[in-house]
Amino acid sequence: MAHFVIVGAGECGARAAFSLREKGFEGEITLIGTEPLAPYERPPLSKGGANEAPEPKFIAALERYREQSIELKLDTTVTAIDPAVRAIRLADGQTLSCDKLLLATGASARGFPGVGASGRIRVLRTHADATALHAALRAGQRIAIIGGGFIGLELAATARMRGADVILIEGLPRVLKRGVPEEIAEAVTLRHRQEGVDLRCGRTIESVEERADKAIIRLAGGDVISADLLIVGIGALPNVALAAEAGLAIDNGIAVNERLETSVSGIYAAGDCCSFPLALYGGRRVRLESWRNAQEQANLAAANMLGEGTEISAVPWFWSDQYDLTLQIAGLADDAVTHIRRDLDDGAFILFHLDTDGRLLAASGIGRGNTVARDIRLAEMLIAARAHPDRTALAASSVKLKSLLAA
Ligand SMILES: Cc1cc2nc3c(=O)[nH]c(=O)nc-3n(C[C@H](O)[C@H](O)[C@H](O)COP(=O)(O)OP(=O)(O)OC[C@H]3O[C@@H](n4cnc5c(N)ncnc54)[C@H](O)[C@@H]3O)c2cc1C
Repeated sequence: MAHFVIVGAGECGARAAFSLREKGFEGEITLIGTEPLAPYERPPLSKGGANEAPEPKFIAALERYREQSIELKLDTTVTAIDPAVRAIRLADGQTLSCDKLLLATGASARGFPGVGASGRIRVLRTHADATALHAALRAGQRIAIIGGGFIGLELAATARMRGADVILIEGLPRVLKRGVPEEIAEAVTLRHRQEGVDLRCGRTIESVEERADKAIIRLAGGDVISADLLIVGIGALPNVALAAEAGLAIDNGIAVNERLETSVSGIYAAGDCCSFPLALYGGRRVRLESWRNAQEQANLAAANMLGEGTEISAVPWFWSDQYDLTLQIAGLADDAVTHIRRDLDDGAFILFHLDTDGRLLAASGIGRGNTVARDIRLAEMLIAARAHPDRTALAASSVKLKSLLAA
């Protein structure tokens, strides 16, 4: 009987295991993960106003793994891969051989250079991280956050909603510099300031230091900030060590082709850990850290492990929740030269990003709750269709995007 092994029991690995069964695979499946918890969703870890650490939101109950004959090995780290004989070694020395291997090893939070994350200096990637830091997000506590990316900003919102004092320091001139247009970043910044976050951009950090009762942050120019808790939210690095040591090609992640195959036949990679060529954007190699990408690639990897030969075609999509605002981005805006604004109800708006030929490359929107969701969904379909929509129609909220799709 064929044996497929999946390394990494996160969003992507777990979904891939179930997807293999949904597609009719009857062989053995072993899903291996370092964390002690069954696979869970990471997005809730940084969001929401509840007064305690979020309960893990499991992707599936443990019975479902049993029902589907998926062998779930938790608290188990894969320490080596031998691509020549397609075998893996576990931390306890055990080896497993397999017919096909999927690497879904995800990413790890970057720490502040030279400073470990423990005590009063924390990062956020796992449920254990969330448990450690959420206790401090409460009234009377002073929280410092380094990094104005999604996780830093979501945590700033969560901490403010729980009554903590928050200072957020970003080294670049504005928040959300990567992949988010300035107008949206301005709306986010304004809201955080209205909510009382002391948001400082363009500030260089000289050092951070943990003391028994405080974390101390020294900024260039002499400012010294002291906080009860310092959260470092400066991005994540793909977990590539296993693949690299096994000699697999690495290029800002485990390099895969449009079918998620690594440089070694029979070994696939998917989710946050891999970089892949995106035909929709001229074959440009990207690595996405997004929940939906992890799910879509899980399904695609499962299909291709079963020999389907399907290529990546999904439009990148990401969302973030801060206070009652939701931000959504579809597509990649980097090569855009024009940004057309469509105003929706209640202060919500969408920006459509077009290239020099007028092709729609991306759409990004922000508004309360679900206000931008429908138009972003339609924009996604226009992006996938490589549409060149009429600019006046894009700007006019009275014109339904659906009609542009039909055109
Ligand atoms: C706090 C937080 C909030 C987020 N919010 C959003 C959001 O709002 N919107 C959005 O689109 N995305 C969001 N994301 C991103 C999204 O959660 C990720 O893109 C998604 O989890 C990626 O899934 P993955 O399976 O590729 O990796 P992961 O979920 O990181 O899972 C990888 C797993 O592999 C395990 N592993 C690694 N190496 C080994 C090994 N050698 N042996 C065994 N196991 C191993 C890891 O321990 C981990 O459990 C958020 C992420 C975080 C951390």
